[in-house]
Amino acid sequence: MTEIIRKVTDLRALVAGWHRAGDTVGLVPTMGALHAGHLSLVRAAQADCARVIATIFVNPKQFNNPADLAKYPRTEAADLALLQQAGVDVLFAPPPEEVYPLGFASTVSVAGVAGPLEGASRPGHFDGVATVVAKLFGMSRADRAYFGQKDWQQLQVVRRLVADLNLPTLVIGCETLREADGLAMSSRNTRLSPRARAIAPALYVAISRAARDLRAGSLAALDTCHAALLDAGFDSIDYIDLRDGETLLPLSAPTSTARLLVAAWLDGVRLIDNIPV
Ligand code: AMP
Repeated sequence: MTEIIRKVTDLRALVAGWHRAGDTVGLVPTMGALHAGHLSLVRAAQADCARVIATIFVNPKQFNNPADLAKYPRTEAADLALLQQAGVDVLFAPPPEEVYPLGFASTVSVAGVAGPLEGASRPGHFDGVATVVAKLFGMSRADRAYFGQKDWQQLQVVRRLVADLNLPTLVIGCETLREADGLAMSSRNTRLSPRARAIAPALYVAISRAARDLRAGSLAALDTCHAALLDAGFDSIDYIDLRDGETLLPLSAPTSTARLLVAAWLDGVRLIDNIPV
């Protein structure tokens, strides 16, 4: 039976009991509208940890665009059923005022790795992410936390945050789960029209081809990828970039840690993806 917890004090008390019993506690932070990608993080957590907490919190501080926050899908009843089925111990789903009570005044800001790409396209986004992740780690005192490689830059920001602030939670990055046609699973996919959903797999196809071309030494691979996405029906591209996977610094040629990252708009929905090169 998955227990729903809304208050930090209740979560603390429960986790303290688990820790006294010697149980390892895994945390899976999400914004809800759960899909198989989220559930793969849950399974990874269950493989390592005696107890697993999933969190659902649509964090207002990481939305730089109020319309995006308003449109973000909220499906708690269906999410709970999935977590129940998966055998998650606790769903921590606090209301915004529990996370950001009156007088809340602190921001965690990660420089460097949080600057380019998503950081440049969505000002303030990673401050919101870093702040809420630091808080979720503090609230839960989890031993391990599971994040998807789907949000590659976010994973690097969280790793930096944990290293810089000596947070005791171990961060685990998990593979991106994809639909059969290659589209990375995302809560935002539910907002795609049937026409846009048919176009969307072109994103993974285009970056896979670009990665191959880059490995083969093509200098035009990124331009070709850009053109292919517009041709396929994407409306605009925020970025297609070859970067070092850890530092997110730009690369002009592939290395053993290179990553190709993309963000593009399709029918009013912003899709992101990334792959190793
Ligand atoms: P979100 O609810 O979109 O904030 O995502 C919560 C967590 O699930 C993040 O760590 C994401 O990176 C991860 N996640 C989202 N989509 C996928 C996916 N397709 N495969 C693996 N992990 C994912």
